[in-house]
Amino acid sequence: MNIHEYQGKEILSSFGVRIQRGLVAHNAREAVDAAKELTEQTGTGWHVIKAQVHAGGRGKGGGVKLAKNLKEVEEVAGNIIGMNLVTPQTSAEGKKVHQVLVAEDVYYPGDNEPEEYYMSVLLNRATGRNMIMYSPEGGVDIESVAEETPHLIFTEEIDPSTGIMPFQARRIAFNFGLSGTAFKEMTKFVMSLYTAFEKSDSSLFEINPVLKTSDDKILAVDAKVTLDDNALFRHKDYAEMRDIREENQTEVEAKEVGLNYVALDGNVGCMVNGAGLAMATMDLIKQAGGEPANFLDVGGTADAKRVEEAFRLILKDDKVEAILVNIFGGIVRCDRVAQGIVDAYKNLGDTIDVPIIVRLQGTNADIAKKLIDDSGFKIHSAVQFQEAADKVQEVLKK
Ligand code: GDP
Ligand code: MN
Repeated sequence: MNIHEYQGKEILSSFGVRIQRGLVAHNAREAVDAAKELTEQTGTGWHVIKAQVHAGGRGKGGGVKLAKNLKEVEEVAGNIIGMNLVTPQTSAEGKKVHQVLVAEDVYYPGDNEPEEYYMSVLLNRATGRNMIMYSPEGGVDIESVAEETPHLIFTEEIDPSTGIMPFQARRIAFNFGLSGTAFKEMTKFVMSLYTAFEKSDSSLFEINPVLKTSDDKILAVDAKVTLDDNALFRHKDYAEMRDIREENQTEVEAKEVGLNYVALDGNVGCMVNGAGLAMATMDLIKQAGGEPANFLDVGGTADAKRVEEAFRLILKDDKVEAILVNIFGGIVRCDRVAQGIVDAYKNLGDTIDVPIIVRLQGTNADIAKKLIDDSGFKIHSAVQFQEAADKVQEVLKK
């Protein structure tokens, strides 16, 4: 589960990680109040207004702006709240901004220049261990650092039996070229950050930038936190951080009815049982010149009700020009599924305005095919994988 920057920072802060402080606001007036309160708490005069959406690259899209007085806070917050923020990580329509974080300006001038670093904590699947990935080249896309200057990306792997060791935190601070206060601050930052990662059952922390302020404090300016869904039962307070406005609405509905659905960009909807067959079906659609509109695994109990729910979900997407049903009847009998499709068609009749290609293989496939062929509906049945692909191609051409 993804959460907002301000929520990620709350979690970090609860484990003693130093953060850029801020308060959430839902409109311009609240933003001004937040700025006043923050000034009392921190002494800061300047504020940064940051759009809270589940996407990175907000700065580039105009979702992070400095405000030098309360009038600017009001103006900037008013402009950002309600906008459709387009960033390199959103679709072309962007994401609607419902709230902003009014944060203290931490790039204040002083003895040294502020410096930005990159740091993330994640699982290295190749070794089965958590690792800290970091780079002195922070603040910019880490992807381009990885491409152009890969030697500037470092990793530190953590042995699960000992946890993070102080020497590892010191190595990180050393590789950042730090000394004195900043060195000590960085080791504290790393130790507390890793503890926060483990204790919160997160699957990803990405802190870009980690900032060294002009007076040598180390703090998290940004926080992308992904929580492990399977551990949310241990963290009821984190589970409440879910913001379904940020999720794909069809995916949310699918989850409610227990279907495994992932929205994609293409034009061919698919309904399949089993994740492996679903992947193979998506390949098949691509080979036939189409693009899958979704991944949908209806699971082992593809009964009439689920089939109908699945059709409803697929049809919500107006990019869909054809639907391919590819079901293997092992535990579930093909004739049951076929009956489900016919029933769904009867119930949804008017709303189904795209051709449906059905391939049912396995137990009672012959009875199933007959059911479909005799139904009188515009459903094309196919027996072989290739045949199904050809039919998809045929209907897409029309
Ligand atoms: P992202 O663009 O979604 O990654 O959002 P970030 O939280 O990383 O902010 C983007 C950029 O805004 C940072 O890299 C900084 O350069 C800038 N920024 C963030 N906080 C401050 C601040 O307190 N003062 C100033 N001057 N710039 C800031
Ligand atoms: Mn960032």
